[in-house]
Amino acid sequence: MKNITHYINGEHVKGTSGRFSDVFNPATGEVQAQCPLATQAELGRAVEAAEAAQPAWGATNPQRRARVLMKLVDLLNRDMEKLAEALSSEHGKTLPDAKGDIQRGLEVVEYCIGAPQMLKGEYTDGAGPGIDIYSMRQPLGVTAGITPFNFPAMIPMWMFAPAIACGNAFILKPSERAPSVPLMLAELAEEAGLPKGILQVVNGDKEAVDAIIDNPVIQSIGFVGSTPIAEYIYGRGCSNGKRVQCFGGAKNHMIIMPDADMDQAADALVGAGYGAAGERCMAISVAVPVGDETADRLVEKLVPRIEKLKVGPYTAGNDVDYGPVVTAAAKEKILGLVESGVKQGAKLVVDGRNFNLQGYEDGFFIGPHLFDHVTPDMDIYKQEIFGPVLSQVRADSYEDALKLAMDNEYGNGTAIFTRDGDAARDFASRVNVGMVGVNVPIPVPLAYHTFGGWKKSAFGDLNQHGPDAFKFYTRTKTVTSRWPSGLKEGGEFHFKAMD
Ligand code: NAD
Repeated sequence: MKNITHYINGEHVKGTSGRFSDVFNPATGEVQAQCPLATQAELGRAVEAAEAAQPAWGATNPQRRARVLMKLVDLLNRDMEKLAEALSSEHGKTLPDAKGDIQRGLEVVEYCIGAPQMLKGEYTDGAGPGIDIYSMRQPLGVTAGITPFNFPAMIPMWMFAPAIACGNAFILKPSERAPSVPLMLAELAEEAGLPKGILQVVNGDKEAVDAIIDNPVIQSIGFVGSTPIAEYIYGRGCSNGKRVQCFGGAKNHMIIMPDADMDQAADALVGAGYGAAGERCMAISVAVPVGDETADRLVEKLVPRIEKLKVGPYTAGNDVDYGPVVTAAAKEKILGLVESGVKQGAKLVVDGRNFNLQGYEDGFFIGPHLFDHVTPDMDIYKQEIFGPVLSQVRADSYEDALKLAMDNEYGNGTAIFTRDGDAARDFASRVNVGMVGVNVPIPVPLAYHTFGGWKKSAFGDLNQHGPDAFKFYTRTKTVTSRWPSGLKEGGEFHFKAMD
């Protein structure tokens, strides 16, 4: 049994609370490690170390800070296999998918190497007689992030890379269900030359999170996870005067127009619906074909593809399509929702309820499910299932399909499959969702654009990574200056126009 630690001020530190949470191997159902759950005092020690280390790091020139990130990129590539193995063993996703998780984080580290360019301020020469104005972007100080289980490498990197590139210290509270990779990332950052105390990991649950929200030294919180927790952290964090951005759950719709390439649409749906066992905030969980004829053709294409899916442990090699879900509780919740779908009258076209994997009977595997004739009043439509369950809601027209996506409380991602540029353009322009794919089922923007949903999928005004991250992790200071030769007018008693 492995004992997970915290990582405070450059040291692995044992938990002192006496409270632990089990970390499973989802493929076997065994508990493989104990994750310590920090107290307020343990979080406080990390904050003290961060506060002591941050001023020197903030004063280090941006190019030197960027060099640490350059080195980190090399180390991430060096350790890719090791990181992916650790990630898959706690999360359950396949090894190629775990590498994708690391790679998408690594790309944000690469983007943040551009910090010297991103942090350049603004300057107005001669804003008035002898007057110059300049704005600079300064680090916030001590920042923190709280991350979900489903991307244990990518989402921490999306937060800490821009935070430290901007000169902040960052305290990460990762998911207690997949804590090993975040600790490995903090070690690698120090190997890359990051001073102690600038990137720390405090493991925990609500107690550690509340300690972050209420700590007066912590200036900002980034959160990614489910919507109720996102709303809670956003509300309490903002009322404590912090800068907060919280990204929540999703119910992503894919609209399939009658003119779509149906093979392409079915391939896309299978990958986006069942990849990572559906445990992705950008998974497609609702297929919306327009017209019954389109719906029938789509089901015909989907069923053989779904029946062919290989479900297995990450150790079984590259031809496994998806692995187990993260915990027994997640499995139970997902299968409970499947039962509710059957009871509420949806047609279960592919039934994965009796799925059994020989040799892995105690693992948290779930066979793929496809529901047809789902309606918006059903629980399988209203709730985020976060499992390998795809629901088909039939729409009579394009306008009905668009309305369905727009009326949904979530607005993370969506997609349209069509050959009609006019329909695609109309959809991209009108839909009230943050990330849109046109014949692309999972439109996760690359590092130099920004990632963020709308409606109940995000709280706060700036997105993750891209230029927004440099805004989130800095504050603007604007200096208006005039040197003695310009001081000839005596005192000023009103707001002066710079004429
Ligand atoms: P979760 O909300 O259960 O946990 C997220 C984090 O919050 C974890 O670090 C956890 O320890 C902490 N937490 C849990 N309960 C808490 C409480 N009561 N008070 C304070 N903190 C608490 O989410 P999860 O199950 O780890 O992740 C899955 C969810 O994350 C899904 O809803 C998914 O859609 C969402 N997600 C969203 C995005 C996005 O960018 N919008 C990305 C990935 C995942």
